[in-house]
Amino acid sequence: MNGLIETLRRAVGASHVLVDGDLTAWEQDWRKRARGKALAVVRPGTTGEVAQVVRACAAAGAPVVAQGGNTGLVVGGVPDDSGREVVLSLQRLNAVRGLDADNLTITVEAGCVLQRVQEAAEAAGLLFPLSLAAEGSCTIGGNLATNAGGTQVVRYGNSRDLCLGLEVVTAQGEVWHGLTGLRKDNTGYDLRDLFIGSEGTLGIITAATMKLYPMPAARLTAWAAVPSLEDAVRLLGLAHRELGAGLTGFELMGQFALSLVARHFTQLRVPLYGQAPFCVLLEKSDDESETHARGQFERLLETALEHGYVVDAVVAENLSQANQLWHVRESIPLAQAEEGLNIKHDISVPVSRIPEFCRETDALLQRLIPGVRLVNFGHLGDGNLHYNVQAPEHGAPAGFLEQWEEQVNAVVYDSVQRFDGSISAEHGVGSLKLEQLEQHKSPVALGLMRGIKRALDPHNLFNPGRVLRP
Ligand code: FAD
Repeated sequence: MNGLIETLRRAVGASHVLVDGDLTAWEQDWRKRARGKALAVVRPGTTGEVAQVVRACAAAGAPVVAQGGNTGLVVGGVPDDSGREVVLSLQRLNAVRGLDADNLTITVEAGCVLQRVQEAAEAAGLLFPLSLAAEGSCTIGGNLATNAGGTQVVRYGNSRDLCLGLEVVTAQGEVWHGLTGLRKDNTGYDLRDLFIGSEGTLGIITAATMKLYPMPAARLTAWAAVPSLEDAVRLLGLAHRELGAGLTGFELMGQFALSLVARHFTQLRVPLYGQAPFCVLLEKSDDESETHARGQFERLLETALEHGYVVDAVVAENLSQANQLWHVRESIPLAQAEEGLNIKHDISVPVSRIPEFCRETDALLQRLIPGVRLVNFGHLGDGNLHYNVQAPEHGAPAGFLEQWEEQVNAVVYDSVQRFDGSISAEHGVGSLKLEQLEQHKSPVALGLMRGIKRALDPHNLFNPGRVLRP
């Protein structure tokens, strides 16, 4: 493989081919669940260089693992421990290539950090609505490769819905120039949609044209304590009816999830803490004015209080208070990490069936492991829950994972299937959920997926063993 390293150095410059030293940042996943060994980490600076790297790796038979911000949660973007895989980091491909205010589009390179895309849009008085807790580190290429969702899906859709065009380096080392800003283009198969959500297994995304929106005149955030999941679903229905397209966020947080924030981040104040088994964070965007938004929001919450869907609620007075509310919600994953490893699930179920799903699955898990604790939170507006299972109090987290992961997964994913849901709502499959995908996706769907992989990447160059087994 020495010949390959030399070819890569010639292609991208010796200082951008890393083979020695501490490569933990590229070799270990965000949750520290997997640590591999790369043949090299290569950091091309242009699309042409990406194509050269792909051709060189293909010629040498070295698998290519694309990586953006390395914040993925399903172990899809780090190398395995074979020492044969080349990590292709897109981080240096980070330019904003252009913004077309009249067409409401922005074209950015794959390694552009999500927050930078939001800021570039904002500087032009426009909104790029994709938003998630990892936005300071994750990249637009990674967002598209995983079809990331986040907190605004209820109004704007997920990454796929926000993307109009892509530039992709294929497994043959060619460049597909698909950077269109068109909202209508029915000229055959939609190649863009094949690459979105393919988790680096079909091609390397090097740039994307994304949709922008007018900046709302006002944004208001409220926090409500709700007596039950049924009431949370009723509140969501009411919010849809009363706010229409103004409803931009609807997040659910269980009491135990919030108790972890209170326990591990004592500097944060959890609003309405202990008043009800669940809290909901609602966000409303308004095209008229803050006064109009506040009036509509307060009327909605009054109606919800009257019906008993809500026991108490607060509306943020200003942006800083709104940010504090979001900060509490976004601290849940970090608080869980402080509490110790848990068994994570990123599932979706039709919104109407979520209460029944949780009741049934909670009971099955309690029967299996008495005292087990459920960190239940997520994007209820999209029917997406992070339904995580934590060891009973005083249990050892690592031993818990080892002993129970398989059985807990079987209980949760069988429930998901009974309730017509999905075993991965927004994080993807990576190498973590391969087996579950095989168990829960239909043979016809798996066959079609394998056919697409064979057609686009016949030599299994890109991310082998992720999403689909070889
Ligand atoms: P990476 O982790 O580097 O890669 C992810 C996958 O995409 C890998 O399979 C990789 O091979 C592939 N890939 C990366 N770049 C490219 C490219 N240019 N071309 C082809 N393939 C590529 N996700 C949600 O959907 N919603 C959330 O609310 C959410 N919240 C999160 C909160 C936290 C704190 C964290 C750590 C993660 C969260 N995630 C969430 C996970 C989410 O998938 C990632 O944060 C993000 O989308 C991945 O981007 P990345 O640049 O870090 O990709």
